Amino acid sequence: MVIDCKAISQAKRDAIKRKAAELDITPTLAVILAVDDPASRVYVRNKRRACEEVGFGFEMYSDINAVGELVTQQDVHGVLVQLPLPSDIDTNKVIAQIPPEKDVDALTATNLGRLVLGAYDFAPCTPSGIMTILDNVCGSVSGANCVVIGRSNIVGKPMSIMLTQKNATVTLCHSHTEDLAGITSRADILISAVGKAGFVTANMVKQDTIVIDVGINRNREGKLVGDVCFDDVVRKADAITPVPGGVGIMTVTSLLENTLKAAELAVGKR
Ligand code: NDP
Repeated sequence: MVIDCKAISQAKRDAIKRKAAELDITPTLAVILAVDDPASRVYVRNKRRACEEVGFGFEMYSDINAVGELVTQQDVHGVLVQLPLPSDIDTNKVIAQIPPEKDVDALTATNLGRLVLGAYDFAPCTPSGIMTILDNVCGSVSGANCVVIGRSNIVGKPMSIMLTQKNATVTLCHSHTEDLAGITSRADILISAVGKAGFVTANMVKQDTIVIDVGINRNREGKLVGDVCFDDVVRKADAITPVPGGVGIMTVTSLLENTLKAAELAVGKR
């Protein structure tokens, strides 16, 4: 089964739109796009369109110094710095300026700490979107053997924490992992966030696994593909997310959810 992430996302967005319409304020997201990179421009455009779809306000800035002012503006509920930043800018320092209640990407030390403690309003958008997919596909992950490839702060690490909190048994793999195929081929749920086209081949996947492909890559023909050799793995997997039209959509939908929560927090509705 190819997982219909568009349908899962649409149901969520419809609910977000209804809840936003019940507020006396317009939930508003500000995005700082400080690097002129084609991929980042596309991601920001998708965020703008999604905000428009659910009736949110959207503001865009190109100056990284805007962060300091945006965090004080009452009519801006969520502040997101589009990553990666240019190498001469200290990403951690910039993120640290965002107060936790406006940190809709959930990347501040406070929000990541709260995530580890299990008491949080905001979770990072990609793992959050993946949890929604898994909720829809398998209901519970309790007791499942989950393997995550990639240990970035935005995907792999928080993903492993969120799965653990839902009682999955998690193995977090990275470039130093030995016998990767041996580990992945025991996974009930395999999540790949590596960033290499064709990285997960059919021999790395056991029969009837759920495969979540986070990767966004261009193949030699310039086509957008994930990390997984989709045409081979789809025959073996019980369920698999497509690229495009998979985790990426859910990531943006989670961002909308977090922005709605930020607006609700601002008016004391949470
Ligand atoms: P990073 O690029 O920061 O890190 C990649 C990870 O893959 C690292 O942990 C690295 O290990 C690991 N890795 C690299 N090579 C191997 C290998 N041979 N074996 C095992 N592990 C390996 O990851 P991101 O999470 O930022 O991005 C990953 C991919 O997901 C990218 O394609 C990105 O575009 C995409 N992405 C998609 C999103 C979406 O919404 N769909 C959102 C965010 C990202 P090590 O730590 O040891 O270097």
